[in-house]
Amino acid sequence: MKIHQVINSLFTSNSWILDFEKNCWLVDCGDIRPIVEIIGKMPVVGVLLTHAHYDHIYGLNELFELYPGIPVYTNEVGRELLLNDKLNLSRYHETPFVFEYPQNIQIINDGDEIVLNGECKLKVAATPGHNDSCLTFVADKEIFTGDSYIPGIKVVTNLPGGRKQIAKQSVDRILKLAIDKTIYPGHGDITSSLE
Ligand SMILES: [Zn+2]
Repeated sequence: MKIHQVINSLFTSNSWILDFEKNCWLVDCGDIRPIVEIIGKMPVVGVLLTHAHYDHIYGLNELFELYPGIPVYTNEVGRELLLNDKLNLSRYHETPFVFEYPQNIQIINDGDEIVLNGECKLKVAATPGHNDSCLTFVADKEIFTGDSYIPGIKVVTNLPGGRKQIAKQSVDRILKLAIDKTIYPGHGDITSSLE
């Protein structure tokens, strides 16, 4: 699996492209054009959401015009945010966002495993605190932490639904999960393994 970073125009959030050569998966989904520039004709076959704040989901409807019917993985709270522009905070921007394909939402929870293309196993860890929709995805050598852990930056907990104490517990958990793995956060750069 190759991983490409797309830095989005909105709040410089990251979308990550998990490239399996025949197809690819996304972790979060902002600007679509740079994704298409990287993947060309290779299809996107699924999306994993680290959480459902606006800056991590706003490309989804456009993505579905290109790749209809693919699954979008999130938890129950993420589902609520995807379908509510107030909860996902997009209402406070120029373009309120509501996900138009609720039937494609797949609910996942702490401890679940998602096997991508039968070859790459991702474990799901619930890492609430920044928001209750926060999930961290743990592969063999990679960990996708969203906004639950951005190396060098304090977790943002002052948005609606943020919980400071819980966020600390999630960071502690992520730091353990991240040992010997490369960290792919929701904003900022890739950070090589913690020791
Ligand atoms: Zn966020």
